[in-house]
Amino acid sequence: MARVCIASHHGSLAGLRADPEFAPERAGAADAPPASALFELRLDQYSDLSAANMAGAVQALGPEHVVATFRRRDEGGGCADATDETRLFYLGQAASLRVAYVDIELATIRSQRRAWQDLRAFRRDDRPQFVVSFHDFAGSPPLEQLRALRREAEEAGADVVKLAVTAQTIFDTEPLLDLLRERDWRRPLLALAMSEAGFWTRVLGPLFPNPAPFTFARGTAAAGTAPGQPTWRELDRLYRFHELGPGTPVYGVIGRPIGHSLSPLMLNTALAARRLPGVYLPFLVVGDPARFVRGIAVKLGVRGLSVTIPHKEAVLAACAERDALVRQIGAANTLVRRGTEAAPAWHATNTDASAAAGSLEAALGGAGSLRGRAVAILGAGGAAKAVAFGVKARGAEVLIWNRTAERARDLAANVGARSVSKEELLQADPQVAAVVNTTPVGMYPRVDESPLEEGELPGGSLIFDTVYNPMRTKLLQMAEARGLKTLPGLEMFVGQGAAQFELFTGCPAPREEMAAVVRAELVRRASV
Ligand code: NAP
Repeated sequence: MARVCIASHHGSLAGLRADPEFAPERAGAADAPPASALFELRLDQYSDLSAANMAGAVQALGPEHVVATFRRRDEGGGCADATDETRLFYLGQAASLRVAYVDIELATIRSQRRAWQDLRAFRRDDRPQFVVSFHDFAGSPPLEQLRALRREAEEAGADVVKLAVTAQTIFDTEPLLDLLRERDWRRPLLALAMSEAGFWTRVLGPLFPNPAPFTFARGTAAAGTAPGQPTWRELDRLYRFHELGPGTPVYGVIGRPIGHSLSPLMLNTALAARRLPGVYLPFLVVGDPARFVRGIAVKLGVRGLSVTIPHKEAVLAACAERDALVRQIGAANTLVRRGTEAAPAWHATNTDASAAAGSLEAALGGAGSLRGRAVAILGAGGAAKAVAFGVKARGAEVLIWNRTAERARDLAANVGARSVSKEELLQADPQVAAVVNTTPVGMYPRVDESPLEEGELPGGSLIFDTVYNPMRTKLLQMAEARGLKTLPGLEMFVGQGAAQFELFTGCPAPREEMAAVVRAELVRRASV
């Protein structure tokens, strides 16, 4: 089982010892790292470094929990005046204390062959294991170069090879992915792409041949020692890192930006609630989403993808099959992979439309309640399309108002709806059963805005705001104050995610758990 290694973010060994997260004896407490956790001592970062202080920290952490690193300056080290001699002295001290791992750069081994032999002589009963590392903070070398580095590190005597590169976009991670998939290597590989685009490399290591014995995480209060690093809690609790292995189903969401997405929280919670193997990751895709879907997603074994802004249309270029709704709307928010790795076939569907129409229908009185009723939509973008086609399919008459009238006319012509001015919409006869906001107006952080003024709220209509962050938008608050029925966007968000879960896994979605975890997270975000 791969372990989580919590990277030290402290400026001093005293600070580290005062941090309750760096205390293995607390394992088992609800807020403590798992008992198997490793802790990285970054010896290049401590202002109070001495052999005695280091030994004290190693004993306090337990040597079997320690990864000792004294990073050289040109590979990200924090100590400007440390010579190779000093660094190797401390690594030798750590090795003699029989820590679990000592990390040494391949570049140091090249220039200090003799000292490297001396360092290895400290090993007793397989401890420490040596991690031979290479870091590139500027870019990502091509596959041939990565192979050469891996070969050289193995031949030098690495127990674990660590290659950390920098991904500008997710496409830069492909050489690492190709190397991870190769089988003919002797030693485990810890391959990391620093940056948000490389996030998958920090989680999915256990899925490959020769997996590394650990991956790095940050403390819950820390900024992290490398960009894109998740907290140990996210790795352990949300992504269930300890359960991942070859064959674990992978799912995810692609978008730009993606860090704010609640889908990983919602879908991983659903997988855990149903006790299903699987992990659902955020993929930051800058560039062509179809290229990602055809290439990296297939190589990673991804079985299902959620698609969010701005990729819902461009992703269709990678899809062999598009259902009728997707053909009508021209956008997909869900891809399911069929076929084989050699001949993958992505099936595109759209769960936004049925989730929007389903939650509206339920709020208006249940099945059939949209038939013959008028629904007014504010906006003519992607969400408006999904709502319009969804409610139209259930028999509603649709009115569309948009800031840019031309887009409202286009959408109306497409759906078989009527484009209207705001005045016409508000005085519609017969009165509209529901007004649906599909513009982002009122969305966090501009929570004081509303697409309708107080006096513009049509009496007697249900007000549905597809915006779900915040849960109670200004529009919904005004409608409630007027005594109107309201429907928050959370219902639609959970509905579209639940439908995705069912398409991905074939199991009924645990809707209540999904809604509860999203609601709690939105409340938490509103309070910080
Ligand atoms: P989109 O394709 O960019 O469309 C945005 C629409 O809002 C356009 O019609 C745009 O009008 C209009 N708009 C933007 N700013 C406006 C403003 N200041 N005043 C008036 N109109 C404005 O975006 P989308 O994909 O439809 O997403 C829109 C919102 O829907 C998101 O912010 C999200 O909160 C919500 N949504 C919710 C769910 C859910 O599950 N609950 C799912 C998807 C989306 P112009 O044509 O004039 O630019």
